[in-house]
Amino acid sequence: MVNIGTYDFVIVGAGAAGSVLANRLGKDGPWSVLVLEAGGSDWSPMHLVPAGKLFTLGNPRYDWRFRTEPDPSRLDRSETWPRGKVVGGSTTINGLFYVRGNPDDFDLWARLGNEGWSYADVLPHFRDLESYAGQGDPAYRGTRGALHVSDVPSPHWLSERFVQAAGETGIAANTDYNGRVQEGAALAQTTIHGGFRQSAARAFLHPARRTDRVRLESGALVDRIRFEGSRACGVEFLQAGQRKTVTARREIIVCAGAIGSPCLLMRSGIGPAAELSRLGIPATTRLPGVGKNLQEHAGIWIVQGVQSGIHTANMDYNALGVARQLLRYVMTRGGPVGTPTAQALAFVRTAPDERTPDVQIHFMPMGYRFVDSTMEILKTPAIMAVPSVNRPDSRGELTLSSTNPEDPPRIQPRLLEARRDIERLTAACRLVRRIFAAPSFADVVTVESFPGPAIESDEQWESVLRERVAPIYHIAGTCKMGIDPNAVVSPDLTVHGVAGLRVADSSVMPVITSGNTNAPTLMIASRAAEMIVRDHKAAESYSAPDRVALRPASGAHR
Ligand SMILES: Cc1cc2nc3c(=O)[nH]c(=O)nc-3n(C[C@H](O)[C@H](O)[C@H](O)COP(=O)(O)OP(=O)(O)OC[C@H]3O[C@@H](n4cnc5c(N)ncnc54)[C@H](O)[C@@H]3O)c2cc1C
Repeated sequence: MVNIGTYDFVIVGAGAAGSVLANRLGKDGPWSVLVLEAGGSDWSPMHLVPAGKLFTLGNPRYDWRFRTEPDPSRLDRSETWPRGKVVGGSTTINGLFYVRGNPDDFDLWARLGNEGWSYADVLPHFRDLESYAGQGDPAYRGTRGALHVSDVPSPHWLSERFVQAAGETGIAANTDYNGRVQEGAALAQTTIHGGFRQSAARAFLHPARRTDRVRLESGALVDRIRFEGSRACGVEFLQAGQRKTVTARREIIVCAGAIGSPCLLMRSGIGPAAELSRLGIPATTRLPGVGKNLQEHAGIWIVQGVQSGIHTANMDYNALGVARQLLRYVMTRGGPVGTPTAQALAFVRTAPDERTPDVQIHFMPMGYRFVDSTMEILKTPAIMAVPSVNRPDSRGELTLSSTNPEDPPRIQPRLLEARRDIERLTAACRLVRRIFAAPSFADVVTVESFPGPAIESDEQWESVLRERVAPIYHIAGTCKMGIDPNAVVSPDLTVHGVAGLRVADSSVMPVITSGNTNAPTLMIASRAAEMIVRDHKAAESYSAPDRVALRPASGAHR
């Protein structure tokens, strides 16, 4: 086995969290940092142009395409869950929405015993990460961060109508849902800058690699963590058919995402003892919560037919339309090629006793359906709304299927396990109908195409939901942070019972945030970096750094 050397920090995964950590640790200390990423290069126009997602999502070259187990809460349906397998991780293939979450999400984490994670604690990180180009209250918004956040470029007029129509049903327009108040309807804020995707790798990782302290190895699938006693001291990984090791002088930080991180812990002997012993893995650290507490925003696509003379974005999916929109993009960086498919949103409460908006609605000025995570564009003019549950009561879980890191895990989503989530979605679907029936859409809409006007009673909605509810790709919670027996990491993100090892990514969320999960994951990594820098600066004399000179990367990412 080849040992490729010793680094102060070894980061597993170059996604949202890994990119921020590499940037911060490379910048804020005199330390050497190695990032190991299973996927390949993100240097392609497909990863830069927002509409490039049409070619990357579902493409096994860039997408892990995890297959789930039959879900008993949804008529035993199974499906493919995309996750980025490429430098930048899921931020290289995601939908580009920028949503921090509700301030109460973080106060809830703190109420659960996670000191240091209240909204007041995390707000400075959200501000430091971003450069927001829109009109925001400086008490909440940042203008100097590395991640460019912009209001959706060249929104379709129907997206503006959605915000007006929502207002007519009592959902007030919100000028900045990432500011003081989340509730309300708005055009989306996006991680698009100058017409290009702002993945976490582009904003954080690649700039950090310009220093001599941060090295990236792509195509490096980490198999397991190595230990000296109860201290994590290195990792073993597979790259170009070779098994290699690397030594971590200070810490290993696992940022492999809500599926990759629990799997890596389990392959390393950290997890539920019975599940590990079934695979012959000695459980060196018994943590029953690894892989449990899986949360996802369950959503349903409501498709609304519109008048035949109206040009919705899906009507451009033909040779002439694509040529016209590509030209428009080249000239202006605008139009459907330069914007996300979803362009507006609303955060709403479906019942007066909900403490915070319990549902998010995405609006798309186009019609498509997902066939197993591949977009199938409709041929007739249509618009869509996708309501999803913000903080679901349902919980899924995942476990290893084998000890081979190339084998996908067993994922049991149980997306509609909790009746309350069905009630929330039913109320949200009815609300979407009211929005599409509001005066602002009166000269636009025809008949609802899916599920269709015949669906009315609670029972009918429940059947439709069980048949059609799908994930909206925001998995979280599988290595939850906390102080209870099912917690995997403590509030400083160190793995319970192990030294030299942290997890910092979407898997540590004890409760998933209200909205898309990129921004809160970036924040988790920024907060993690702050704690890591503090711990290591306090532990050692900062004036005598023991740096490692970085050798030119063998098989390194270009
Ligand atoms: C299709 C899609 C659309 C989405 N749309 C949005 C959106 O519009 N807005 C939003 O806010 N969020 C969106 N998300 C979610 C968001 O992108 C994720 O929440 C976020 O990227 C999670 O960050 P992470 O660091 O936890 O994981 P990731 O960004 O997924 O990064 C994990 C990285 O670890 C690597 N890895 C995994 N296992 C190993 C291993 N064993 N060895 C080495 N490397 C490994 C992976 O290849 C990956 O690069 C979307 C996600 C998807 C998949």
